[in-house]
Amino acid sequence: MKKLIGLLVVLAALAGAAWYFVIDGEAPASAPGVIDIAAMRALVANDAPETLPSDVRIEFVGESQAPSFAAEAGAFDGQRTFSYNSFQLVTPTGDIIIDGAVDRATLDDMSRGEGSFSEDAYNRVINAMSGAQSVLITHEHLDHVMAIARHPAPDLIARRLQLTAPQLAALPDHAPDGVLAPSIARISIADFATPQRIAPGIVAVAAPGHSAGTILIYVRTPSREYLFIGDIAWVMSSIENTRGRPRFISLMMPGVDPDRPAVLRQLRALHDLAAAEPELVIVPAHDDAYLRGLAAAGALGEEFTVPAAQ
Ligand SMILES: [Zn+2]
Repeated sequence: MKKLIGLLVVLAALAGAAWYFVIDGEAPASAPGVIDIAAMRALVANDAPETLPSDVRIEFVGESQAPSFAAEAGAFDGQRTFSYNSFQLVTPTGDIIIDGAVDRATLDDMSRGEGSFSEDAYNRVINAMSGAQSVLITHEHLDHVMAIARHPAPDLIARRLQLTAPQLAALPDHAPDGVLAPSIARISIADFATPQRIAPGIVAVAAPGHSAGTILIYVRTPSREYLFIGDIAWVMSSIENTRGRPRFISLMMPGVDPDRPAVLRQLRALHDLAAAEPELVIVPAHDDAYLRGLAAAGALGEEFTVPAAQ
């Protein structure tokens, strides 16, 4: 009998640990005011249609596989494909690039050599940054910054960067030999603590939680509205099911979700926003199947366009 009770205690402890580290990721029941889409819209409400971004495009730079339960707590439905991407907002006054994806070395490291990488796509991102009007990142994690931190011509992109203090502070870790190019290290810092209009139809606002420097980017084109959410959700099903990442991920990757309650509140807010406004195109950074679906539906163009010579 004693042995049986001991076994039951061990099983209960294991079940509790599995629930805590792998299964539980439930967002709160409500999160009022956490994502103020009205404030973002208001900043660009008077922008004339001909000044808005005309096109929103994606480069699929690399991809790797992960089990579904690593991306969304409690999801046990096989493998998910993570893609590592960069986005191009084509505007009448020049491109605005969002995120710098991975380079080959980073992808090989992250995927232990199992991932795939497109040299052509990465080169198009590098070239687009060189001529862009502005370059933003959704956040400062390694799989979003390499075309900036390791850009072959940092002096060419430095004045185009609009990075917040926590975003810039993380870049040296990813720069060649851990030293950020001086021209990038001394850029003036952007502050998105309150929503800021970047250009006609484009607004950025800080949304810390997944990382200190996570921001939301709202984009209005003449035909659609987009909300770039970086890695607040790794997969759209996290928003649909209001379930965040499992806690074991933060043990394996200490930089992920330093403010987990904030991420869970944001997931609830995104869930409610998506339900209220199904036309709003929410863009998570890595959900390959969903992003390819957006491309197939015409909401994202595939491959960056090269601006006509001026
Ligand atoms: Zn990421």
